[in-house]
Amino acid sequence: MTTGSCCTVHPIAAERLGPVLRSTNTTISPANHGRRTSTRSTPQADLLVVGHISTGDPSTPSAEAMAVSDGRIVGIGSRSDVDGLTGPSTTIVAPDGVVIPGLVEPHMHIWASLLNLDWLDLSHEACPTFDDVVSALRSAVGGAAPGEPLMAKQFDPSLYPGEPVLTRDLLDRISPDRSVVVVNASLHYMYANSTALAAAGVTDTTPDPPGGTFGRVDGRLNGVIGEVPAMMALMAAVPMPTSDQITDGVRRILDAAARRGVTSLREAATGTLGGVGELALLHQINGSRRLPVRVSTAQFSIMGDRTPSEVAAAWRDADVTPFSGDDMVRADAWKVVTDGSNQGRSGYFLQPYLGEESGGKANWTPEGLRDVLEVGLSDGWQVMVHTNGDAAVEFALCAMEDLLPHHPAGDLRHRFEHVSFSTDDQLTRMAAAGISPSFLMNHVYFWGAAFRDTILGPERAQRLDRVASAYAAGMRPSLHSDYTVTEIHPLLSARTAVQRRLQADGTVLNPAECVSPDQALAAITTHAAWQIHADDRGSLGVGQRADFAVVSDDPWASDPDGWPEITVSETYLDGTPAYQG
Ligand SMILES: [Zn+2]
Repeated sequence: MTTGSCCTVHPIAAERLGPVLRSTNTTISPANHGRRTSTRSTPQADLLVVGHISTGDPSTPSAEAMAVSDGRIVGIGSRSDVDGLTGPSTTIVAPDGVVIPGLVEPHMHIWASLLNLDWLDLSHEACPTFDDVVSALRSAVGGAAPGEPLMAKQFDPSLYPGEPVLTRDLLDRISPDRSVVVVNASLHYMYANSTALAAAGVTDTTPDPPGGTFGRVDGRLNGVIGEVPAMMALMAAVPMPTSDQITDGVRRILDAAARRGVTSLREAATGTLGGVGELALLHQINGSRRLPVRVSTAQFSIMGDRTPSEVAAAWRDADVTPFSGDDMVRADAWKVVTDGSNQGRSGYFLQPYLGEESGGKANWTPEGLRDVLEVGLSDGWQVMVHTNGDAAVEFALCAMEDLLPHHPAGDLRHRFEHVSFSTDDQLTRMAAAGISPSFLMNHVYFWGAAFRDTILGPERAQRLDRVASAYAAGMRPSLHSDYTVTEIHPLLSARTAVQRRLQADGTVLNPAECVSPDQALAAITTHAAWQIHADDRGSLGVGQRADFAVVSDDPWASDPDGWPEITVSETYLDGTPAYQG
């Protein structure tokens, strides 16, 4: 979890990863692993899956056999329903578990997540109390080679009573001789011990850089480092990743998604750090060995100081056009970010934050926003607009309402991301404009209490993640993780959509917005697939791709309370193994 927003590029990530990514090949070379041609006049299955199959299709919810030919489902139902489709060459598989459609993660970040992949996780999820933070640091220090710096991430003091700080003295007691650097989840602060400060050459007399601070008490460094210009001094002592490490990191992130049953996902800001090279690298990695998860990319509308038109031209020049690529890596959307993070108090609200005079601000002028959206719409992209606060939703919606009549939408399925706070009127207008929401559902679970108690107050907090209202307005909502804001774990998101329980105190935040189990599961399967233009995924039926997961229990037939504990033993893409646990 982070109180920053993964939809925007953090300068530290840009500084550390950008040069490596920009130096990679920029030729887009699709691998076409999945594209096979069949000369058969009648389909004969090359794979027969037998057992407990939960289809995700409410009209035919379960089956006992599924026949697959050339990666597509050619028959599904009882054993006798598919008997005529099999032959001597058919491979029969009887998975040890329940077969469900592969889950779809419609908004996550690969590139922004690579920098700290191997850092110690001090998130509230990993460390529910401040004592847990201290013990996690102690055991990591004890378990590592001397001299190796310990980097830790996602420490979020706002989620602990009294907002405790990791001071230099405390970190020195944990590790007197090994460098320790902890990054705050907001990405605005770092905490360092004496060894780390010395390695970076920062002393009591080092002047603060413009825009940054080395915290001091009575002239002595206290180890609290504020803002990027000062944080960069500490990061300079950390080695840059190599391109092999980046490649390995991409596979690890996708493996972790597969481990949660995901077979398709959307990378929600491609090109933020390395431009076109990021997409080229994904194709290259997939070309060397098929990825474990299909990746749909949203091309980021900002690259350095280029204008939106110049960014669009850069993508076109690389032959990146809507739906270009292959079955594994496909370019599908144009990403625009209108505001920041609500828990970081940089989301854009109609009313001020609790106890403050400001409700945040937009990232664009109205003209600038219309321009960047216009550029994406003109090139035929699905637009994917980050809107966190209710003023951001209004801002983006007004612009889209102005623009869409000039760009007949066809079937582009434009999306608003997070839509964390919205009004009834906004949801009605989004539905009318053909825009659907994707919710970062675990905002409720992890930050619901913080929104209620300290950030927005009890009344506004009720309006967090209004999935039931989105359904009532006639839309097809999806749920996402915004990884690394939260872990990729669709079944945890779905449980939160059903229960809206707060991790902090177990209370329910606005029961009127709870959805049914079927609605929550549709939001991580069929609706999420629809939002990434993958209508042949998200459910198991004739003509669909054989993308499925083998799991320990059937979510469509079990209590949502237990969904997050359901384990995944295997996933398949086009009927061939993609991940094995
Ligand atoms: Zn994002």
